[in-house]
Amino acid sequence: MKQSKVLNPKTLAEVLSLFEQCGDGARVIAGGQSLVPMISLGLSEPDFLINLSSCDDLFVIKKTRKTINIGAMASVSEILNSSQVINLLPILNFAAKKVATPHVRNFGTLVGNVCHADPSSDLIPALLCLDAQIDLVSKDGKRSVLLSEFITGPYSTTIRGGEVAVSVTCQLDKQSKLASYKKVARRAGDLGIATCAVSLDSHKDCIESAKISVGGYLRKAIRVLDIEKNIVGLPAHEICTFIDGVEKIESIENSILPDGSLTNNYLSATFSRLIRSTLKDALSGK
Ligand SMILES: Cc1cc2nc3c(=O)[nH]c(=O)nc-3n(C[C@H](O)[C@H](O)[C@H](O)COP(=O)(O)OP(=O)(O)OC[C@H]3O[C@@H](n4cnc5c(N)ncnc54)[C@H](O)[C@@H]3O)c2cc1C
Repeated sequence: MKQSKVLNPKTLAEVLSLFEQCGDGARVIAGGQSLVPMISLGLSEPDFLINLSSCDDLFVIKKTRKTINIGAMASVSEILNSSQVINLLPILNFAAKKVATPHVRNFGTLVGNVCHADPSSDLIPALLCLDAQIDLVSKDGKRSVLLSEFITGPYSTTIRGGEVAVSVTCQLDKQSKLASYKKVARRAGDLGIATCAVSLDSHKDCIESAKISVGGYLRKAIRVLDIEKNIVGLPAHEICTFIDGVEKIESIENSILPDGSLTNNYLSATFSRLIRSTLKDALSGK
């Protein structure tokens, strides 16, 4: 196993300066819950680890008039306990409850989870329903990117060398009234085979807006736009019948990652049933 040199900057300015000094051999470490296992397995071999845990500014969960801004060192447990997230972004709170075990939630960060870009992440589907963006800083300046564009495939993103993610920003006006999150995993606490986040608005029993995201055994978590657009305008009580009648959900079919132990047919059927069940829970306020 490679022995990396750990560096402990106290400010974002120091983080950026260390990136410049260390070059391509440097990696940021937040909670270490994914990076440490990757290093132990020899899948990542950084010369330097730039540890963010002494940068106090990055722990903050901040509300502005229109947004909630989740700092790079805010852990999944802090998100679970944040009254702002519970009250204003319930879909993210529901998803955070499903992340692994207390130990992983105490150390693992939401921003680290997004940067790791595991297709089975519980948090990314919820963030996609919120049209969340990731805020990146480098010596060349700042940029913000929608998560749907930031994550490009399994464990891959558009982050550039020398860039650090400082926060994820969720727009409060993207939050709908009805939300639910569900996952199918082999065992409790495991990463999901299939995950689904749903965010809906209905008026007089009619669906006014719908956002559905899925993750799991897919190339990356995605919005299921082909179902979303077809359920808007439907009476709420007809949604399940509509899903039952859809033979193939194209967006999911095109994204399934072949797996030795589970057939594509099994995965397609699991995603359809999970979407149906998550929609039903969202409508019944569960
Ligand atoms: C046993 C186990 C079970 C798990 N189960 C689940 C689960 O059920 N659901 C789920 O959603 N997640 C699960 N996870 C993942 C976990 O939730 C963490 O979110 C995840 O490990 C990443 O967060 P971290 O802070 O530990 O990131 P780290 O491990 O520190 O970093 C992960 C990656 O992101 C990069 N990175 C981190 N922060 C930044 C930053 N600010 N800027 C740029 N790059 C950055 C690192 O360089 C690294 O490449 C599990 C992890 C473990 C170990």
